[in-house]
Amino acid sequence: MGTVFEVGAALLGACVGSFLNVVIWRLQQEDPRRRSLGGRSHCPHCGALIRWFDNVPVLSWLLLRARARCCGGRIAVRYPTVELLTAGLFWLLAAWPPFGSVVVAVPGGEAIDLTAAAAFALHALFLSFLVALSFIDFDTQLLPDVMTKPGMAIGLLAGLWPGLAGVLSNDPSTSVALRSLLASLAGLLVGGGVTWLIRAVGSAVFRREAMGFGDVKLMGMIGAFLGWQAALLTMFLGCVFGAVLGSVGALAGRGTVIPFGPYLAIGAVVAMFARGPILHFLFTTWPEWQRSNPTAPLWLAGFAVLSLFALFVLVRRGRRSG
Ligand SMILES: [Zn+2]
Repeated sequence: MGTVFEVGAALLGACVGSFLNVVIWRLQQEDPRRRSLGGRSHCPHCGALIRWFDNVPVLSWLLLRARARCCGGRIAVRYPTVELLTAGLFWLLAAWPPFGSVVVAVPGGEAIDLTAAAAFALHALFLSFLVALSFIDFDTQLLPDVMTKPGMAIGLLAGLWPGLAGVLSNDPSTSVALRSLLASLAGLLVGGGVTWLIRAVGSAVFRREAMGFGDVKLMGMIGAFLGWQAALLTMFLGCVFGAVLGSVGALAGRGTVIPFGPYLAIGAVVAMFARGPILHFLFTTWPEWQRSNPTAPLWLAGFAVLSLFALFVLVRRGRRSG
């Protein structure tokens, strides 16, 4: 049953990715009439209604050889990419759940663990938000409020289900629901607050925006879903990825504008799946190495400053409002 669940999760991810393509496309339209999410899919070239059998994730793109059936207009490779990416993330969530297995062994067979199933649904939603926001930010340098704000609210409310977002303290005198709600709230405040602080300092030092207020809200959302420890780890990983990939891009002579949101999203995904090993490395393996090497803290400080510097120089913000 475990394998069936993993395959099912990947198929669900492909369908969700197909819907995310619509979300990404419509949230970028300037005309508010084209932004409504109701109704069926239309061809972006000629406006013809797309029939269901031409709308099967990935498969239709391959069978149609990247051409629309109605008018022969090109279907960008972006569409199957988003579908495959979402399918892969959902599969990863099913195969390597950061919250415990959904399908558990019980005497005489297998059963569904309800809390793990709810956690799967919540994290799948979180991953969907990250995918959509990354592509929108990549295209437009904007992280729309219409996604980050509900994302923060959903992350907070999910805290009310004990065990979904972790608990803040082990004090048994307050209810588990309250402690887990507080864990989400702490994540939101720490994630948003730290990002706001870095943005303020960076803007003052470099006199230019490397992060916008949209990044602050995105990090608030990430913190509300994953808790404050993972939010800090996400910020750290986002800076490292931004600095490294930004440097590689600059050395390769690609002067394209790459916003910070996608790096934060990658950081959040890595923090979500590999929080344990990374924290073990940072706080156990690394300090041991430091004790035997007196210059190690200098290396670490130098690396952190260099990363932030590279980030602010390389990662540029275009227009930024929401
Ligand atoms: Zn068409």
